Amino acid sequence: MRKKIVAGNWKMNKVLDEAVALTSELVNMANDEVQSDVKVILCPPSIYLTTIKKYLESAPNFALAAQNCSDKVSGAYTGEISAQMLQSIGVEYVLVGHSERRQYFNESNAVLAEKVNTALANGVSPIFCCGESLDQRQNEDYIGFVKNQITESLFHLSEEQLLSVIIAYEPIWAIGTGLTASAEQAQEMHASLRQHIASKYGADIAEEISILYGGSVTAASAAELFSSPDIDGGLVGGASLKSREFTNIIKAR
Ligand code: PEP
Repeated sequence: MRKKIVAGNWKMNKVLDEAVALTSELVNMANDEVQSDVKVILCPPSIYLTTIKKYLESAPNFALAAQNCSDKVSGAYTGEISAQMLQSIGVEYVLVGHSERRQYFNESNAVLAEKVNTALANGVSPIFCCGESLDQRQNEDYIGFVKNQITESLFHLSEEQLLSVIIAYEPIWAIGTGLTASAEQAQEMHASLRQHIASKYGADIAEEISILYGGSVTAASAAELFSSPDIDGGLVGGASLKSREFTNIIKAR
């Protein structure tokens, strides 16, 4: 039975008071309304991780992810945060390869493979993001493109390591645009990615990997997306900044 997961990526939003208020609201609503078999992963800006962790003590189904980590282990890399540092403050997950990092910080599949390695070496589970642009969807083998992102960044892992990875399929054309992939479009990609994983690691391993959908998920679109057989939850951006909306998305899972 795959894990049901809803993750909220706050990106570079909220000052400290707002971040704390959002967390408190989410925890209160979740304790009242959300089934405990859904794992909720909050991805605040790294500077708030330690503070927000304290607010999650009364919410055992909540966990924290950083939005990024360095591909380097330690040393003279001013401004960077290592996976070991995340582990040392009790952060369990890290987003790796969000399309904004790929686009604005030129993160290649090879660099992302290093981030995956250092995260796993420190007991932090990568949430590996992948997805195609609109141009690729319209003019190229878009499924092949996304499969290749997974091949180049994940297929060097052992079976045991891969089982610690969560995959998030996030078509770039759907991120922050209000355009959600239809449940059929998302399911097509998720099933293809699961099959791709099966071709390398076998069907049993592929069946265990959680694959999340991300891209303008709202409370209105979540239930249909999450009812697809290969969609195990969501990675939510904009809608995760509003406690009522995000709680309703969690409830749809
Ligand atoms: C994201 O940033 O991962 C994301 C899916 O954003 P949004 O939900 O706003 O499209």
